[in-house]
Amino acid sequence: MNKKWSESSDREMLEALVNKAEQLGRTPVSTECKASTETCPGACVIVRRFGTWNEALDLAGLPLNRTRTEKGKRPYASHDLPIEERLLRNCAVFGCWHWLGGLDSGGYGQIDFDGRKANTHRIAYEVWVGKIEPGMHIHHKCEVRACINPGHLEVVTPLEHAKRHKELRNNAKLSAQ
Ligand SMILES: [Zn+2]
Ligand SMILES: [Zn+2]
Repeated sequence: MNKKWSESSDREMLEALVNKAEQLGRTPVSTECKASTETCPGACVIVRRFGTWNEALDLAGLPLNRTRTEKGKRPYASHDLPIEERLLRNCAVFGCWHWLGGLDSGGYGQIDFDGRKANTHRIAYEVWVGKIEPGMHIHHKCEVRACINPGHLEVVTPLEHAKRHKELRNNAKLSAQ
């Protein structure tokens, strides 16, 4: 006959959760405690007592499980991840780091960040190199607009930028001759 967990104290239930976590070597997920056993209350007993599974984990002092991505949602679409992670998860990391998500009309990578649409190469520069002063441009030394490899990005004034592109056009003309 199983212990009557519903009659146990909060403390006993939380201690049982901690014991379970020690056995597993990590925070248990609710599906691992479907039914009550001698040593661990079932998830439904826990939820009835503490409101939610995570609330109980929190009270027990256990680190919360990472929230699972919603069904059908690609992991890199999750806005909960740090911006570095969101960038790296969605590009190929060798040579040019080609942004694999959406592009704007100019062919530059686009991402929703901080409540606005931002260009991924500019965000990448700020994440891995440093702040871009207002009015400054980011030039792709590799000439690949969807690239977010910080090593291929260069901060330039609008004037310098226009000059770079003029040079590139001239070089292209020369090599085409
Ligand atoms: Zn590149
Ligand atoms: Zn440029």
